Amino acid sequence: TKQYLDLPVAPADIAFGLMTDFEADPHPKKVSMIAGAYRDENGDPWILPSVKEAKERLGEATHEYLGIAGSPTFTNLAKELIFGPIASSLQENAASIQAVSGTGANHLAATFLARYLRPKRVFIPSPTWINHKSIWEMAGVAVVEYPYYSHDTRELNVTGMLDALEHADPNDVVILQACAHNPTGVDLSKPQWTEVSNLVQRKKLFVVFDSAYQGFATGDVDGDAWVVRHFTETVLASGTHPGLCVAQSFSKNFGLYGERVGALHLVVPRHLSAQGALSELMLISRAEYSNPPQFGASIVETVLGDRGLRAQWKADLHTMSSRIQRMRGMLRQRLEKETLLDWSYIEKQIGMFSYTGLTAHQVDRLRREFHVYLLPSGRMSMCGLNEGNIDYVVCAIGEVVQ
Ligand code: PMP
Repeated sequence: TKQYLDLPVAPADIAFGLMTDFEADPHPKKVSMIAGAYRDENGDPWILPSVKEAKERLGEATHEYLGIAGSPTFTNLAKELIFGPIASSLQENAASIQAVSGTGANHLAATFLARYLRPKRVFIPSPTWINHKSIWEMAGVAVVEYPYYSHDTRELNVTGMLDALEHADPNDVVILQACAHNPTGVDLSKPQWTEVSNLVQRKKLFVVFDSAYQGFATGDVDGDAWVVRHFTETVLASGTHPGLCVAQSFSKNFGLYGERVGALHLVVPRHLSAQGALSELMLISRAEYSNPPQFGASIVETVLGDRGLRAQWKADLHTMSSRIQRMRGMLRQRLEKETLLDWSYIEKQIGMFSYTGLTAHQVDRLRREFHVYLLPSGRMSMCGLNEGNIDYVVCAIGEVVQ
């Protein structure tokens, strides 16, 4: 058995490793399209005006502890945001707990479900956010990848996805990203979601929705939550279903990345109560970090709890999502002119990322020869693009695809 003295040094996290390389790169034209963090038209981090105003209103906030489950005002507002009109019928049927952002919510879900649902396997999309696999492996559940994206068609592989989930057993867990799929930017249509929902009901699978981009994807907070609400209604109505949960992040839609704001909501069928589950979630939270961070949650609750600030926040979401959409259009148009190839999929994809289809070798050349940084998978964070660097990036891509 291994002990700490003979542990090999683990490879660095790909994205965080590249970010360090980027920081150290002295080239004046370097461009980072690595991180999933919004940048404004000058390439700078952006504090949302709604968040700025909330901070002013909060003034000299204290630094007291929150309770183990976090701020009840925050978790209620978070619940209303994701579940919309059905939130009011979830009194008994949902357990909501503040979490250490989306990562912490995913981790709480994995730890709790590994203990009490005891799935044989968890099904994650191929590809998906890199941390899903690590989080579930750490919880000791066997991870299986289901086909999600077809590199040939650059579209969803819905047949592959449904076929793979057909092989799941009752109480197995399926991870679904609610909108703006990371890293592909390809989402299911409503009819496709309905097919998945029917399968999940029939096979009694437990869905964990990962919702990291509500409102950020399209600017429409309700539209981006449609699938969560649709599945929740079917779970509530079911007599036999094990339930579902939603890991909710406020990193992107409030630009509060480093503040670690999130929540986990567990929903059970209408004839059951989720209050026992909440007490177990609190035991896990208490043992792991005692109570969640206070500052970011107080910003979110100030914004969501005030009609005027909420309207400003929706305008801020529109500012971010429409800038990204504009960049998609410009990138597609200029790449098509430069390379005479079809780049229409860049404009069809949604959210923060674009799956460019560039190979690992081409991505490597972009970094070495042009100081343009993407993930080796070809994932590009659209936020890194702006009118000041897009022509340089287009020229660089043009060179490596020749
Ligand atoms: N899920 C997905 C799909 C994501 O893309 C991210 C952020 N990259 C997260 C969860 C969690 O992020 P955070 O912990 O910052 O909320």
